[in-house]
Amino acid sequence: MNKKICKKCNNEILKNQPIFYFPNMPKWHELSDLSKQDFHINCIKDIDSERNVGEILANIMEDISKKTKIRPFLGRSGNIVVQAILDEKSIEIFDFEDFVDFDIPIINLEKIVQLKPTETIANRMTSLHVLEDQN
Ligand SMILES: [Zn+2]
Repeated sequence: MNKKICKKCNNEILKNQPIFYFPNMPKWHELSDLSKQDFHINCIKDIDSERNVGEILANIMEDISKKTKIRPFLGRSGNIVVQAILDEKSIEIFDFEDFVDFDIPIINLEKIVQLKPTETIANRMTSLHVLEDQN
């Protein structure tokens, strides 16, 4: 099995560590040096604070989703972009602040809205857990 090596710190990305796969970028793009590389989440966040990659990727994702009919743009908050996946009846959330993306079936949205702190709901292959309110 191939080890995944973080392009930023040059250490192995272990199985239990969250990973960010940088999308394929054209050669002319300012972020092309990061194209198709693997990163620890904390390492891509370090790069983000230096090079604003989250905002650039969110701008690209917003632009693409505003041009497609089957995955239309729903909304954006900061560097978090939400689009609909019409053929799967779900929404996909691209979070370029915490560098994760996940999708939620529309049928689960009402249940999620009703969740209370510390409750968890199964969502496809993962689960969503509501954190305690910090206020
Ligand atoms: Zn790293």
